[in-house]
Amino acid sequence: MKTKFPVWFSFLFFLTAMSSNAQQPQQPASPDASDAPASASAQIKTNPLTPDEQDVILRKATERPFTGKYYKFNGKGVYTCKYCGAILFRSTDKFDSECGWPSFDAAIPGAVKQTPDADGRRTEITCARCGGHLGHVFTGEHFTPRDTRYCVNSISMNFVAADKMKVEKAWFAAGCFWGVQYFLERAKGVVTTTAGYMGGKTKKPTYKEVCSHATGHAETVEVVYDPLQTSFEELAKLFFEIHDPTQVDRQGPDIGDQYRGEIFYADDAQKAAAEKLIQILEAKGMKVATKLDSATAFTFWKAEDYHQFYYDKNGKQPYCHFRTQRF
Ligand SMILES: [Zn+2]
Repeated sequence: MKTKFPVWFSFLFFLTAMSSNAQQPQQPASPDASDAPASASAQIKTNPLTPDEQDVILRKATERPFTGKYYKFNGKGVYTCKYCGAILFRSTDKFDSECGWPSFDAAIPGAVKQTPDADGRRTEITCARCGGHLGHVFTGEHFTPRDTRYCVNSISMNFVAADKMKVEKAWFAAGCFWGVQYFLERAKGVVTTTAGYMGGKTKKPTYKEVCSHATGHAETVEVVYDPLQTSFEELAKLFFEIHDPTQVDRQGPDIGDQYRGEIFYADDAQKAAAEKLIQILEAKGMKVATKLDSATAFTFWKAEDYHQFYYDKNGKQPYCHFRTQRF
């Protein structure tokens, strides 16, 4: 189970580059090619690093315990890769392990790569996007129910406050929102998801009102994602693969207009991407019933708490959704 963030929009704010040793020169230095992590792509724009940052991020050194700026830090927001800016961890997954470094029991899906150390004793974690060294991950310590501790060097990260994050949003209706949220929250680069209601007439609808078919709302999942790690098109492909887009006002056993398939697009680019995917499916012979509407015409209303992360809270698997390869 994850906790919810408030609604965020705005721009990414990088904290000033960290300087842990005043005796060393601190002018930004671009690493030469031999220092760059092997997985760093030439297409990825990376940030200049100080010599101390290069030691940890590029040469896998470890900052001294109890010295990092985020060890006892409790701001609300996310932690990004200092080298490339990808969102890596949520403050809601941070916990105090007393180990001397910032500790998290979960990472943004797909954002952190795990690789066993050469001696086989520990597992290194790196940024999946740029390859920058972050620290190590441990299990079997039972600090939290997830039994996972991402032990991260503060110097490898920047903190970005919740209201300063550069994120994008998408809204998908594909039947019962329990199953839709289950799949979307696990998608690469997704920062958070919320189950709710969209596309109807009334304000602050309740589940009972939506089920009465009097409000016109569809069960909808709001997705907040990092555009550096995924895209609306990637998320929309997943949307089309976790439900049957040919069904009208129902999805499997769930019947009613609140279970219709619909994309509430944020802008013309999202609309064009959705139309392109529908054309691909129609070219394969599917009669796609998915509605497309502008998100600006509607308000997304968060559903009752017991609908949020329903399957995760109850330890069950979705009965209503499963993934079928369509692209
Ligand atoms: Zn990175």
